[in-house]
Amino acid sequence: LEEQLRQSQKMEAVGQLAGGVAHDFNNILQVISGYGNMLKMDGKLDDRQQGEIDHILAASEKAAQLTKGLLAFSRKQVMALAPVNLNDIIENVKKFLARIIGEDIQLKTITCENRLKIYADWGQIEQVLINLATNARDAMRKGGLLTIETGFQTVEASTDHESGRAEPGCYAVMTVSDTGIGMDKETCKRIFEPFYTTKEIGKGTGLGMAIVYGIVKQHNGFIDVYSEPGQGTTFRIYLPIHGIEQSGLEETIAPVAPPRG
Ligand code: ADP
Repeated sequence: LEEQLRQSQKMEAVGQLAGGVAHDFNNILQVISGYGNMLKMDGKLDDRQQGEIDHILAASEKAAQLTKGLLAFSRKQVMALAPVNLNDIIENVKKFLARIIGEDIQLKTITCENRLKIYADWGQIEQVLINLATNARDAMRKGGLLTIETGFQTVEASTDHESGRAEPGCYAVMTVSDTGIGMDKETCKRIFEPFYTTKEIGKGTGLGMAIVYGIVKQHNGFIDVYSEPGQGTTFRIYLPIHGIEQSGLEETIAPVAPPRG
């Protein structure tokens, strides 16, 4: 519990700091890219200078992407909660995920026959999948298989997980596995820390999994991570279930606890 508290305090502090810096930094960036573009349009530069300006513009574009990520991370995301079918979210974002991972990685989705109704923010659950798929891609540089599977599971008693304590109840489970490089114990322990990254400078921000953590927590869910170096990685995302619909019959299960909106 103490660990959890530390993590959320850290997220809070980092979020505020990052948001402030990102905002000011963005204004400065606009000056850089604005004048850069003016110089480029001027047409008075020789080839070498044109190339240099292009470098400046490309670098400021990268920096703009980074600040965008920071702003998204720091913004206290207001949740637009609605009862949604988890399978529908996956079906809807599938094409986009396929684009992210590219042609060398195969995407396989196995959706549970039942309609898994959860109270969730559609866009945020998509964000979780996008961040997981991005990491999976980076872990499978030589190609591989990304599998997304849905199901449900009852948690009988409070249990501790990487992302904190799980309360008893029924959960929709989204399993995302890759056949990539995997992680050692130390990395596994730290992935949810904001700014923790093992990627090269300029490649990773270390915010992807912190965002996943934040979103899942806000939905009163939890996450399990299974990974071994060289053996790929599996994330299991648990989200409180609102109901399971089976062949037209609807069985509504009392939600674990209403998510904080
Ligand atoms: P970033 O992707 O920018 O590094 P994240 O917070 O998304 O930041 O991930 C943090 C770290 O967790 C990554 O740098 C990587 O070491 C590890 N990681 C996350 N997902 C995976 C995965 N599917 N396979 C291997 N390592 C992973």
